[in-house]
Order: sequence, then structure tokens, then C-alpha cells
Amino acid sequence: MGAGIAGLGASYTLWQRGEKSVILEKDNTYGGLCSSFEINGFRFDRFIHLSFSKIAQVNDIFSKVEGGIYRHAPNPSNIYKGKWIKHPAQNNLYVLDEDEKNAIIEDFKRRPDASTAKVNNYEDWLRLQFGNYFAEHFPMVYTRKYWMKEASELRTEWAGKRIYQPSLDEVIAGSKAEDERITYYAKEMRYPKKGGYQHFLSIMAEEADIRYRSEVRHINPLERIVRTTDGQVYSYNRLISSLPLPEIVSMIDYVPDEVGKAVSKLEATCGYHVSIALKTKNIPPYLWWYIYDEDNLASRVYSPSLKSPDNAPEGCSSLQMEVYCKEDEYSEQELLDKTVGKLVEIGIIKQEDILFTHLGFEKHANIIFTEPIYEARKIVRDYLISNGIQTIGRFGEWDYLWSDQSLMSGLGIL
Ligand SMILES: Cc1cc2nc3c(=O)[nH]c(=O)nc-3n(C[C@H](O)[C@H](O)[C@H](O)COP(=O)(O)OP(=O)(O)OC[C@H]3O[C@@H](n4cnc5c(N)ncnc54)[C@H](O)[C@@H]3O)c2cc1C
Repeated sequence: MGAGIAGLGASYTLWQRGEKSVILEKDNTYGGLCSSFEINGFRFDRFIHLSFSKIAQVNDIFSKVEGGIYRHAPNPSNIYKGKWIKHPAQNNLYVLDEDEKNAIIEDFKRRPDASTAKVNNYEDWLRLQFGNYFAEHFPMVYTRKYWMKEASELRTEWAGKRIYQPSLDEVIAGSKAEDERITYYAKEMRYPKKGGYQHFLSIMAEEADIRYRSEVRHINPLERIVRTTDGQVYSYNRLISSLPLPEIVSMIDYVPDEVGKAVSKLEATCGYHVSIALKTKNIPPYLWWYIYDEDNLASRVYSPSLKSPDNAPEGCSSLQMEVYCKEDEYSEQELLDKTVGKLVEIGIIKQEDILFTHLGFEKHANIIFTEPIYEARKIVRDYLISNGIQTIGRFGEWDYLWSDQSLMSGLGIL
């Protein structure tokens, strides 16, 4: 169930073994979150999507993409109080005013001793890594925007490798001049020259038997039957699901209370990608940038046309902004005013350059690492396994998986 990258990976493995499989997919294309869409000659992905995989099996599949691959050096940036700060901000403070630099450095010096400090949650971890001032003005604000939670509500296991932790010397040096090293955790970002991120998956999709517009709505594990919203009934020998755990559980009758309680503790972010088509190439040179300012609802912005010029018509460019919020939290106009409107307000793009904007909502984006996650997801997955349903992918494993890890989750089915 699901023709995202995990479902395609599972079907690819079965195909290589000579076993027959059918994928039921609710959309009219493959790729799930890794798919791309086109409007008037502009192509957008569903959120940023660049590959920085170190997994040979994944790179082998991606390298076969027709048309070749662009390899970008990561050059992210940040916007803070309307100013550009090179990423990561913690070791590139040189653009801030002296008072703020001093406040950050003094608090950095006052960090508790890491060997004895007690870290109960992500907020404690941030204060320990960066000191109070930086933690409160940068990552704690960003957490609210990106994770839809306070840092104190999150666990820390997912954070370590993803966030650069500079030494005091690096912070001081970066407060005087730009840190020219690439300290981002990935050194090369790959993207198909043609067809958007989805094109990386085309080799697997070609071999798959995908039934599009087939939304699964009911599963009877005893009779081994799946029903779709269009009235089709499929019987199976084996069921593999990449659907979000809460959704799949809701499709089964008579779920034990313990599982129902566990599933209610699983939380994920949801939100919009706000796509912008521009008639000039007049956009910032960064593949992506983070926005710390809270008056702008977007947490991140990236450029599809910088990932590949094939994503925009000749002479044009594009951006996409990422906003995490409930589906009905803002009206469309409010969303546009507080994202695109803010970019115009601070002079990053010009209103007269905008050809069109587009809002796309994703019900599941990132798994949120709140306290009960590990125990709750184990209860749910064990229950599904005991009913003969194997779960894969970001929302089937309920984990912070990049596309390569989601792919491996599918390719690795036994
Ligand atoms: C904001 C953001 C940025 C990201 N950036 C990157 C990045 O730069 N690089 C990277 O490697 N990874 C990135 N990822 C991670 C990547 O998107 C995921 O790891 C991957 O797409 C998950 O694939 P999946 O197949 O597990 O799930 P999905 O892509 O969600 O696939 C599930 C499929 O199931 C289908 N489905 C759902 N319900 C039903 C139903 N009832 N019946 C039938 N079909 C159904 C869906 O339509 C979908 O096709 C990012 C993710 C997010 C949210």
C-alpha cells in the first residue's frame, strides 16, 4: 500500500526476486512525498528534496536516472531580524551587532558542564550546546515553526548529527569573519537534471504494477482482504504498508484499546508548501535558507530552479516556502501574505516578478519525537505484524527517515 519511495522499493525487491506484487496508490502519480508536480512549465517538488545519500544501493539506483545528475555544494543561509546570516548561524555571527554577538558568546561560555548536566529534553540539549541566548533566539524559535512544538516537549535522540555543534573558538572566530568551511552535515546535494526529484524513482516505477486512484479504506486481516474507496476488493497473501500508522490502524475493525491508546500518542507535523513562479532570475543564490523571524510563517525556503534549471522556463526562476500549521489555521490569503508577502516586504523578491503562487497541503510531513514515541510506535507496529501487516517507510516505521532510508526500508523487506 502506497507508491512512495518505500512502497516502490518493496515492489522493486519483489520484482527482482521474480515475485508478483500490486501497489495500491491513492494519488494519480508515484513518489508520495518524493513526487513532483508541474504548473505552466514550472516544476515543483513536495518540499525541498535533494539527495545526500551515502548508501551505495540507493546511489546505484539514483545514478541510473535518465538525463544525469546535478551535484550541488550545500550553501544554505539564514534570515534573522531581516538580515542574511551564513549557515550555520552559530559559527557565522559576524553580521550581528556587537551587543548581540557579546550576549551569545558570553552565554556560550556559561554553558553547563556537559559531563554532569542533566538533559531531559531538546530545550536542555540546545541550552547545553549553544548557551541560553543563542538557544532562545535561534533553534528554540525555529523548533516552534518547524516542529509545531516547544523544544521542551521534544526528545533529543534525532538531533545529534543533524545540528552542527561548534567549539567556543569557532563561535568567536565566526563572530569576526565568515567561516568558509562547509560545516553542514552533508557535503554534496544531488538532484536529477530532468524531471524533478521524482525522476530518481522512475526506474523502480517502470517495473511496478501501480493501481492509481486506489485509496485503501478498509483492511480485514483475518480474511486477508483490502477494500478501496472505489469499491474494489483485493485479496492478498502478504500485505506491506507504507501508509501512516494512525491511518492504517483506523482501517482495521476491533483494534485493542492498548493499540488505540498508543496510536493516539503518535504525532506528526503537517503543513503547506507555498510555491512561487517568477518571471526573472532575480532570487537569492542559496539552494535553501531558514527563516527565524516569527512574523514570516515559513520556516524554510528553497529554489526548485536552482536545483535544476529544467524546473522553470527559460529566463524564469522559482521558490518554494515551507509552513507548518493545521490545515484550517489560516486562510489562503493570510498564508500568502505572511509568506510570499513577507519576502516582498523585505525586498527579497519583487511583487511584479511573480507569475503565480500555489499552495499544497501535506497531512504528514515529519514525525514528532515527543516523549512516548518509541514505546507507542512499538505497540502499534507489533500489533500490525501480529496481524500479518509489515510496515515500511517514514510513516510505516514512524521515524525521521530521509528518502534514502525510506527506500532502504522498502528494498530491505524479507
Ligand atoms: C519537509 C520535508 C523535506 C524533506 N527533504 C528531504 C530531502 O531533502 N532529502 C531526502 O532524502 N528526504 C527528504 N525528506 C524525506 C522524504 O520525503 C521521505 O523519507 C520519503 O518521501 C518517505 O517515503 P515513504 O514512501 O515512506 O512515504 P510517502 O512518500 O508518504 O508515501 C506513502 C504513499 O502512500 C500513499 N497513500 C497514503 N494513504 C493511502 C491510502 N489510504 N491508500 C493508498 N495509498 C495511500 C501516498 O499517496 C504516498 O504515495 C523530506 C521530508 C519532508 C517532510
